[in-house]
Amino acid sequence: MFFDYHMHSHFSADSQMNMEEIIETAIKIGLDEIAITDHHDIDYKDDSIEFIIDKNEYLTALEKMQNKYKDKIEIKKGIELGVQLHIFDQCNRYLADDFDFVIASFHTAEKKDLYNGDFFEEYSQWEAYLQYLKTVYAVVKDYENYNVIGHLDIIRDYGNYDHKPDLMENKEASEIIAEILKQIIKKDKGIEVNTSGYRIDGENPMPSFRILKLYKELGGEILTIGSDSHSTDRIAQRLSSTSQKLKEIGFDKLSTFTNMKPQFHKIEDFAPKK
Ligand SMILES: [Zn+2]
Ligand SMILES: [Zn+2]
Repeated sequence: MFFDYHMHSHFSADSQMNMEEIIETAIKIGLDEIAITDHHDIDYKDDSIEFIIDKNEYLTALEKMQNKYKDKIEIKKGIELGVQLHIFDQCNRYLADDFDFVIASFHTAEKKDLYNGDFFEEYSQWEAYLQYLKTVYAVVKDYENYNVIGHLDIIRDYGNYDHKPDLMENKEASEIIAEILKQIIKKDKGIEVNTSGYRIDGENPMPSFRILKLYKELGGEILTIGSDSHSTDRIAQRLSSTSQKLKEIGFDKLSTFTNMKPQFHKIEDFAPKK
């Protein structure tokens, strides 16, 4: 079983790919299954871009693709939901059990945008990282309507810093990360391995292998893998080599989802269909 569980079609404001292009490319690469996970960010703080999806239009388009390609590839109704502490009810109302797979992601913290740098203005680098992690902890403690936390250490990618250390290098940060992972595990949720993360230091997906190792040690089992592709050349990128590293860390399976329920697949079978 070979799958890519994080990809963006033109329903996301930052992607130009249409669903057919994604699917045709995925079939060519030898993927058995994909989850299209477009952005829905309620109360996003950067007014210059809108990450809101008309759900009916989106689901209708996905169903059309599922039908058209049903003999060639399994397509799941996914979404990448931007979570913030003050929008839990709105997130729940929006999702309404209509999706197979929900990635909960942090693109915002403390009502400030991470990407455009607003969040970093008041803080030193490590202060910002710690505040971000505290926000993630507050969310995973109380919010449950998701399957995996997206790109858990994405804060490393933002802010205008030359050095982007692994969050595990800082004792306080590593302690908060452990508490975040414990909450996730206790609630039968998971994390994703996001292979776009190699852009940060060349050696790690998001989250870093050190965090993934800790997740494994704490008993974490639910793990999805995705490219976070916004263009066809990125689809399935570095999925195979990353799965090898995950195997070395001790993971023996990866997950897919149907109606928000995980299915587990042997990591040794994770390879393109011949
Ligand atoms: Zn994201
Ligand atoms: Zn994404």
